[in-house]
Amino acid sequence: GDNHAQVQQQQHHQQEKVKKKKEKLSALCKTPPSVVRTRKGIDYRRGMFLGEGGFARCFQMKDAQGKIYAAKTVAKALIKNEKTKTKLLLEIKIHKSLKHPNIVNFVDCFEDDVNVYILLEICPNQSLMELLKTRKRLTEPEVRLFMVQIIGAIKYLHSRRVIHRDLKLGNIFFDPDMRLKIGDFGLATVLTSAESRRYTICGTPNYIAPEVLGGKQTGHSFEVDIWAIGIMMYALLVGKPPFQAKDVNVIYERIKCIEFLFPSDKPISESARVLITDLLSLDPTKRPSINSILDYAWFKGPFPSKTNEEALTGTPSGV
Ligand code: ADP
Repeated sequence: GDNHAQVQQQQHHQQEKVKKKKEKLSALCKTPPSVVRTRKGIDYRRGMFLGEGGFARCFQMKDAQGKIYAAKTVAKALIKNEKTKTKLLLEIKIHKSLKHPNIVNFVDCFEDDVNVYILLEICPNQSLMELLKTRKRLTEPEVRLFMVQIIGAIKYLHSRRVIHRDLKLGNIFFDPDMRLKIGDFGLATVLTSAESRRYTICGTPNYIAPEVLGGKQTGHSFEVDIWAIGIMMYALLVGKPPFQAKDVNVIYERIKCIEFLFPSDKPISESARVLITDLLSLDPTKRPSINSILDYAWFKGPFPSKTNEEALTGTPSGV
């Protein structure tokens, strides 16, 4: 009777759901074809797998001249809903508009039936996260050189009213010459001059600013990137982020009352502590602006002339 038909319909519905889920997964796991031809008729040959993030997988791609790029591939099955599609388009639009020596260069964007490809400058020496994992902690001169590069890129972003909102060691890559490049504009936003705040809660637990946790009433702005600079500087010098804990709720509680210490067994200079403490101010208006960070006394200290690949495995001599 009616009941039976209903059950059947439900079963059918259930089967459809499982089928859709499977399709989604297989699309996710599908390796792009060995050659991808763009609308403009350019052929790119796929190379090795580089890594994966939230919803993208990254492969090497080579053009006919043998130049190597990184292709961030996003399975179309994952961007079926409008909200996700809009987000990816915004990431592309923002990234495409940027050009700076310390920002991963956006080269091109194209698609086939299965994937959307974002072709980027290749950063073959991984990110600051992997560097810190092998090195445990870095010397102050090294961190100084890294900070100057990161701050230069963020100065450029903020001057164009772009907030990155996901600055962290894992999103800052080394190019072939060991220069730092900020990447992953998946959470970036552009403020129009009429509005000065954003209200969406986003970020990565260890790096999230207190005003973002504070939520809807107050909103947040450029200062969340300044906060993240403080987290990264601390992590590079100490070896772990300042509010680290197993439980994310504990991390959030510590962030909300700025509960962190400088370890007594590691010699962090007084001028470094002053800068980190100011960057990690609870009140966003008390944090230095991106244009004033480099005026801090800490930046008067010694710099290595450049970062060599030897830094990836051990403390370089002379720093
Ligand atoms: P998601 O936005 O999904 O988190 P990411 O942009 O973080 O994706 O990229 C995922 C991974 O791909 C990174 O962790 C890294 O290993 C690798 N990757 C991303 N961009 C590059 C690049 N320009 N060069 C080399 N590897 C890259």
